[in-house]
Amino acid sequence: MRIISGHSTAWAYRTGTCTDKVASRRCLTRGERNIVRDDDFTCVLCDGRLPVRWNFPSC
Ligand SMILES: [Zn+2]
Repeated sequence: MRIISGHSTAWAYRTGTCTDKVASRRCLTRGERNIVRDDDFTCVLCDGRLPVRWNFPSC
C-alpha cells in the first residue's frame, strides 16, 4: 500500500482511487457512461465519438 501525497496525484489517477476518471467518458448524445479501452473513444451505445478529455464533473 502506497501513501498518496499531493505530488503523486497523477499516479493515483492511473492506478488508484480515480482510475475511473481516465477510463470512462460520458456520451454527449445519450448521457451514458462508457468505459474507454485501448484508447477507443467510441460509444458502445450509439457508436458516437466520445470526448478524448474527461467530461465527468468529478471523481
Ligand atoms: Zn453514445
